[in-house]
Amino acid sequence: MPGLYDCEICGKSYKLKDSLSKHLSVHAGYTTCIICSKVLSRKTHLDRHMMQTHGILNVGGKGVTTTAVSKPSVIFNSLV
Ligand SMILES: [Zn+2]
Ligand SMILES: [Zn+2]
Repeated sequence: MPGLYDCEICGKSYKLKDSLSKHLSVHAGYTTCIICSKVLSRKTHLDRHMMQTHGILNVGGKGVTTTAVSKPSVIFNSLV
């Protein structure tokens, strides 16, 4: 349908380009669950999702730091 702005990623249609622009932030990782990769439509929804699905409370605004998993350096046992 002409005049509608479609999201190329998830196919949602918006009448206003501005609405689509706001929606696109959804796909920018801003509202993506870092655990199960589920994309929520709003940050508040993500917070709720984190709490209800993963039992994680709001980690506190911006700058979510994923815990760096330091893997022990692998020692290759090449000298057989
Ligand atoms: Zn979309
Ligand atoms: Zn999740």
